[in-house]
Amino acid sequence: AAISVRQLSQTIRQNPIEVIKQLMRNGLMANINEVIDYEAAARIAADFGIEARPQTVRAATKRKKPEHEETKNLPLRPPVVTIMGHVDHGKTRLLDAIRQTHVMESEAGGITQHIGAYQVEVKGQKITFLDTPGHEAFTAMRARGARSTDITVLVVAADDGIMPQTLEAIDHARAAGVPIVVAINKIDKPTANPDRVKQQLADHGLVVEDWGGDTIAVGTSAKERKGIDDLLENLLLVAEMEDLHADPNAPATGVVIEAEMDKSRGAMATVLVQNGSLKIGDTIVVGDTFGKVKAMFSDQGKHLRKADPSTPVAILGLPSVPGVGDSFSAVESERQARQIISERTVKKPATVSLASLHDQIAAGKVKELNIVLKTDVQGSIEPIRTSLEKLATENLTVHIIHAGTGNVTENDVMLAIASHGLVIGFSTGVEAGALKLAETEKIDIKRYDIIYNLIEDVDKALKGLIEPEL
Ligand code: GDP
Repeated sequence: AAISVRQLSQTIRQNPIEVIKQLMRNGLMANINEVIDYEAAARIAADFGIEARPQTVRAATKRKKPEHEETKNLPLRPPVVTIMGHVDHGKTRLLDAIRQTHVMESEAGGITQHIGAYQVEVKGQKITFLDTPGHEAFTAMRARGARSTDITVLVVAADDGIMPQTLEAIDHARAAGVPIVVAINKIDKPTANPDRVKQQLADHGLVVEDWGGDTIAVGTSAKERKGIDDLLENLLLVAEMEDLHADPNAPATGVVIEAEMDKSRGAMATVLVQNGSLKIGDTIVVGDTFGKVKAMFSDQGKHLRKADPSTPVAILGLPSVPGVGDSFSAVESERQARQIISERTVKKPATVSLASLHDQIAAGKVKELNIVLKTDVQGSIEPIRTSLEKLATENLTVHIIHAGTGNVTENDVMLAIASHGLVIGFSTGVEAGALKLAETEKIDIKRYDIIYNLIEDVDKALKGLIEPEL
């Protein structure tokens, strides 16, 4: 087992600087991204009065177990997987390769349809893949309150290594608590250097298994369709550890993953059934409308009467096109549907602003300040991060969920919405789309050009000393 200094600091809730100092006293020179072994980590933890058991250390890289104790006895459901990674690293081609090698035999006459997701079968077990790759779509769904994904496949091209969007994807998956399986892709290329990718992954806290960590990494060639089986089998393994259950006998609930107006058939939506089973004739409430499921078909173009948990299905019968990320639920009657819609108050996600922070902390509503940090240059990130994290009190942790260089993008704002956080820009601009989204969603984007002012502002906000904005 191994752990990065940053993860260790987070696990034992100590300032990374203090941890690094303690490491130095123990004769270990390490920076915040460096990975240290279990023994060293345990020694440092002990210095801070914390007894380390292998579990606690490992827990830092693992997602918290879902807290559905009551679902334990229910049948397992297939995992839902999203592919993420830097542009051109092979996300689309990998999705195609998986589909072509493993799609279940289609019925005679059935045609593979693009419905926004598909299922494959490996060793008799199913895996559902969402067809829109990238962390953008993933976080946009989360910002709407939908949890759509169980596992992330992070595609990293072996000839290119970790790039800015790879880092974004890692942070977005982590902020969502979704486990990451790495596909080191393009291993067919003569310039491929998987070891370099593994080193870079380790630098960012993803230590692969053959280096003593617990991140699963698989070499793949989407082009030559190599490593696909290995990847899929590992996804099943992670699914098993995640213990994904659902109740096929419950009324169906789930989320809209794609929707459009079909000229001849009317509103068509692809939904992912997350719990229960969706049946023809079911009345479902979606967003602020409802309708009866008139027809339902799979990614194979096969007509279905019933769709089990984790199955993506295209449905017909809704009066209008629902929004992507809208959740749906089957109800007993139209009356109940109308009632639910009328009672449904517009659920605004809890937003956090510096001005209201103190009150929210005092009210016990906020225990963690999540910050998306954008700076002009890489060198500004670490000092700002450390200073901000130092502001944590016993009632509040300060967590930089994503830090990167460049303008504040719509994506950054989405992440802040999804994580109930705020955005801080340091000596950097804000894209028009980001500004607009932040305004409508009431997300704070704070901009500074002087580190001292930035830190002081957040500090004041934590202490309730900030001037109300006019
Ligand atoms: P995306 O932007 O991540 O979806 O990347 P694409 O799937 O569109 O792939 C980008 C380019 O890399 C395309 O030209 C692909 O044909 C190529 N590519 C993808 N996977 C592989 C691979 O395993 N080996 C090689 N040699 N090329 C690949």
